[in-house]
Amino acid sequence: MDALVKKYKEPGLWLEQVERPVPEEGEVLVKIHKTAICGTDVHIYEWNKWAQETIPVPMTIGHEFVGEIVELGKGVKDLNVGDLVSGEGHIVCGKCRNCLAGRRHLCKDTKGVGVNRTGIFSEYVALPASNIWLCDNSLPEEIYSIFDPFGNAAHTALSFEVLGEDVLVTGAGPIGIMAAAIAKHAGARFVVLTDINNDRLELAKKMGKFRTVNTKEENLEDVMKELGMKEGFDVGLEMSGNGRALNQMIDHMTHGGKIAMLGIQDSDTTVDWNKVVFNGLHIKGIYGREMYETWYKMQSMLKSGLDISPIITHRYHYTEFEKGFEAMLSGKSGKVILDWTE
Ligand code: NAD
Ligand code: ZN
Repeated sequence: MDALVKKYKEPGLWLEQVERPVPEEGEVLVKIHKTAICGTDVHIYEWNKWAQETIPVPMTIGHEFVGEIVELGKGVKDLNVGDLVSGEGHIVCGKCRNCLAGRRHLCKDTKGVGVNRTGIFSEYVALPASNIWLCDNSLPEEIYSIFDPFGNAAHTALSFEVLGEDVLVTGAGPIGIMAAAIAKHAGARFVVLTDINNDRLELAKKMGKFRTVNTKEENLEDVMKELGMKEGFDVGLEMSGNGRALNQMIDHMTHGGKIAMLGIQDSDTTVDWNKVVFNGLHIKGIYGREMYETWYKMQSMLKSGLDISPIITHRYHYTEFEKGFEAMLSGKSGKVILDWTE
C-alpha cells in the first residue's frame, strides 16, 4: 500500500510502498479516507531540531484522520466493519495513576501516533480500538479528519468558564481560530483574536464575530477601550507559541484571570512571574484532548450549530502531498486535507 514516509534524516517526505498492517489483538484496521496535515507534520517535513531529536527514521507520519473500519482484531467488541471512525492520536498506557483515574490525557507514558510510532498517512492503518472515535453519520465526513486539532482547540477553550466572559486568544492559526469560534459558541461576551499575519486574521473573520487584532498595527488597550472593557480579559487562550504574545496576554488579563496555554513556547521564553503572582493569575498547560470528554463536546457543539468548515482551505489527493505541505508552509492556509479514497 502507499504511505507517506519520513525515509531519510533530511527535509522532505517520500511516497513509498509499505506493507499493509494486520490488526493485532485489541486493534482495528482502518481504511483511511481523509487525513489532515498538522504543524507537527510540517516540522517533520522541514526536519527541524525537534524532529531530528524525536522522529525515528524511516517512519510513516501523520495523525489526523477519518476512515472506515475494514477488519477487527481479536477481542474487539462494540465496533463493526463499515463504521466511519476518527481517532485519538495519543496512545496511553492504561496503567499509570492518571490513566487509572480516568485522566488519560495526563498519562505519563503517552506515545504519539506518527511521532513515536507509525502514523496514519497511508492507505490502511492498525490502531488500538480504545483510540477509535465512532463518527456520527449526520456530520460531514471531512470534519472528522480535523477532530484532533479541533480537539486541541476545544480542550483549551473549554478549560475555564467562558459564558459571559471576555476572552483573549493569541495566535490565529487553525487551532486559535477554532478556539475563538468555540468560545463564542459557548457564550463568551467579547472574543478578541490576535495575530501578526493579516491572511490568518482574514480567515478568522469567516469563522465568527471576533474582534481581530494585528498587534503590529493596533494595540490591545485601544481595542479594550473600544469594546468598553475596563479591567482586562477574564480568560486567555494562548495559541501562538510566541513569547511576545504570551507576555501581551499576561499584561492584559483581569486580576484573577485564567490562562490556558496550548502554544508550544521556545525554551528561552521568559515572563515576568511577579505579574502572575501579584495579579493572582491562574495558568494551565494543555496537552492533547481529554479522552473522550473533549471528543463528546466537539460532536455536540457541531450538532448544536457550531460551524468550523471554513477552516478547511485546501484539499489535495495524497499523491500531491507536496502541494499540501507548500500550502501549510505559506502561512496563509487553514487546515489542509489529503484525500486517500481513490
Ligand atoms: P500555527 O503555527 O498555524 O499558528 C500560530 C499563529 O500564531 C500563526 O498564525 C502566527 O502568525 C501567530 N503568531 C506568531 N506570533 C504572534 C504574536 N506575537 N502574536 C499573535 N500571534 C502570533 O499553529 P496551530 O496549528 O494553530 O497551533 C497553535 C499552537 O499550538 C502551536 O504553537 C502548536 O505547536 C501548538 N500545539 C500544541 C498542542 C498541545 O497538545 N499542547 C497540540 C497542537 C498544537
Ligand atoms: Zn498512563
